[in-house]
Amino acid sequence: MNENIGFIGLGKMGLPMAKNLLKNGYNVFGADVSENALEELRALGGNTASMKDWIHKVHYIVLMLPSSAIVNKVVEEIIDAASSEKDQNSLMIIDMSSSYPADTKENCNKLEPYNIAFVDAPVSGGVKKAVDGTLTIMAGGSAEHFDKCKRLLGAMGSSISLVGPSGSGHLIKAINNYLSATHLLASCEAVQLLENFGVEPEKAINVINQSTGRSGSTEYKFPNFILTEAYNSGFSLELIKKDIGMANQLFKDANAATSLPQIIYQRFSEASNVLDKEADHTEINKFVSTYLLQRGILNDENEKTVPGGSDSGINVHPGSLR
Ligand code: NAD
Repeated sequence: MNENIGFIGLGKMGLPMAKNLLKNGYNVFGADVSENALEELRALGGNTASMKDWIHKVHYIVLMLPSSAIVNKVVEEIIDAASSEKDQNSLMIIDMSSSYPADTKENCNKLEPYNIAFVDAPVSGGVKKAVDGTLTIMAGGSAEHFDKCKRLLGAMGSSISLVGPSGSGHLIKAINNYLSATHLLASCEAVQLLENFGVEPEKAINVINQSTGRSGSTEYKFPNFILTEAYNSGFSLELIKKDIGMANQLFKDANAATSLPQIIYQRFSEASNVLDKEADHTEINKFVSTYLLQRGILNDENEKTVPGGSDSGINVHPGSLR
């Protein structure tokens, strides 16, 4: 008989992940606050009855929600729904959202008296890998719990590892996205600078991708979402800002003597104040080209137009770049 899985949060990532569970023979019982998302799951063959109708039928509930605050609220709803059922022994919640590690540990402790296991298993790879079922999954929890849910995770990802105790997966995820945001911002600023000097962005990216300055941003995000001006990676600016904010807080909590996380967080926060609420995270490039370089360089009294760099309308004073 096919195994039943609860799946809460059927957004850009959650829906394709749930689709891969269905493809792999699982029955999916989905929940979302959006009626459109529920309709999409039904169209794929999923079940969208209310949680109290399916909670006693599932052993695993996957969460793919926007924030820790929402995860915490949904955990309370699961406790309420599950505590009216007798058999909670085999229930496991797998939080695949990018959540705050301290909240993850708290949820883990809170659920223990109810005999509900809580594993953090956030993902990287974006919408494309969610669709392909090739996500990188970094799990935090006990080896016993990890072994139990590994097969299920295998339906959604191709690189799956237990990285440490509860919260470790979310910890690595926050730090990974801070690094990713740092590369992205630095690359956008660098390519804009080169463009101002008359270098074509495509040529700059091709060379950088053959050199040591390359990163996931230059190899994947620039060719697919930025140079094409499609800006449709499926990962919003608001969500990456949340991740950088978490990483920044983690550095602060550790009393780390670094200002970089705060600067990156500030830049993405400024971008989120001026860009659309629904902006893709790759649209940080628009912020860079429209605001950042202008603010930093045009204030110079001795500004000069760099030959060949006039398309963007941004003048550059070469002396300020050394
Ligand atoms: P999304 O906003 O597209 O999807 C979130 C879904 O959760 C929406 O369908 C929303 O209606 C639903 N939701 C919100 N509150 C709810 C509630 N109380 N109960 C039930 N459903 C609720 O976001 P996403 O891009 O799919 O990201 C989901 C998570 O995955 C986030 O934590 C994000 O940081 C992380 N993530 C996203 C990407 C990406 O590329 N989009 C990549 C890796 C990780």
